[in-house]
Amino acid sequence: MNVLVTGGAGYIGSVCVEQLADAGHAVMVIDNLSEGHRRAVDPRARFVQLCLSERDAVIRAVKESGAEAILHFAANALVGESMANPSKYFRNNVASGLNLLDAAVEAKVRKFVFSSTCATYGPPDRVPMTEDLPQRPINPYGESKLMFEKMLGWYRQIHGLEFVAFRYFNAAGASARFGEHHRVETHLIPNVLKVALGQAPHCEIYGTDYPMPDGTCVRDYIHISDLADAHIRALRPGVNGFYNLGNGAGYSVREVIQACERETGRAIKAIEKPRRPGDPPRLVASAERAMKDLGWQPRFPKLETIVASAWAWHSTNPKGYAD
Ligand code: UDP
Repeated sequence: MNVLVTGGAGYIGSVCVEQLADAGHAVMVIDNLSEGHRRAVDPRARFVQLCLSERDAVIRAVKESGAEAILHFAANALVGESMANPSKYFRNNVASGLNLLDAAVEAKVRKFVFSSTCATYGPPDRVPMTEDLPQRPINPYGESKLMFEKMLGWYRQIHGLEFVAFRYFNAAGASARFGEHHRVETHLIPNVLKVALGQAPHCEIYGTDYPMPDGTCVRDYIHISDLADAHIRALRPGVNGFYNLGNGAGYSVREVIQACERETGRAIKAIEKPRRPGDPPRLVASAERAMKDLGWQPRFPKLETIVASAWAWHSTNPKGYAD
């Protein structure tokens, strides 16, 4: 199948492009390289450097690609940054995304697969979280993704554009070739591993007064290869709608740091800081719907395995994709 991937030079996109190519799909990547890296694009894919804000060029590129499906990863995805700069999130995630959506309709693309997030829910009334929980985001990042989900609903109803929206919990880990490299790293696991690599003196714990057993936030970490696998399954005819992707197990910030110490065999110093604005205390998925409809099953559900794969990649690529 001809598949167009936006954000294919980014963390999740890069591993998805790798799996698409492994499965024999013809892949074209669009990425503006604001967050992504040219070296993170699998050489089997065609690469076009383009920003989704360039509406006419995006429409031309989508038509020219002959894509039957679009996987849309390109977005800004930092809770903390969105609380300081909401404009960036609504502009890039909503307005620029809309250009791509219109291009998909014009080019008669059959299926649109969207990277959504558990941040669309806000703090849940119960865990594990099912897809029918109310969506009440508490940061502009989650709000921008929810707005796009709603646009997809209307585009399906009005234009017949089929879609799958995956609400990711915390993507982590690496494949053998592709891993996580953000120019400014804010994510927990890579920041903790920086200490193990000797690149930082300590990591930080944002908030130790949450109503959780050890006072720190709880998240559901899911291996990047398992996320990518769900996207390949979403291309099948008849798969539609909203799906959570997580393992159904929650780990606190302190537990993640301990897992990193075990997997690296190194002591990791952590200092306690105030809460980071916009962080819900606990997010844990129920991914039963994805298991049932997609036949999806996480192959690497254990936190240890996820951390070990991240450590393997970071210790082999200590500068990430930088020269
Ligand atoms: N966190 C932390 N120190 C860090 C980075 C993150 O304590 O250096 C916490 C953060 O407050 C959240 C959890 O770890 O509770 C996961 O954060 P991350 O940024 O990795 O992902 P998010 O859940 O925001 O998508």
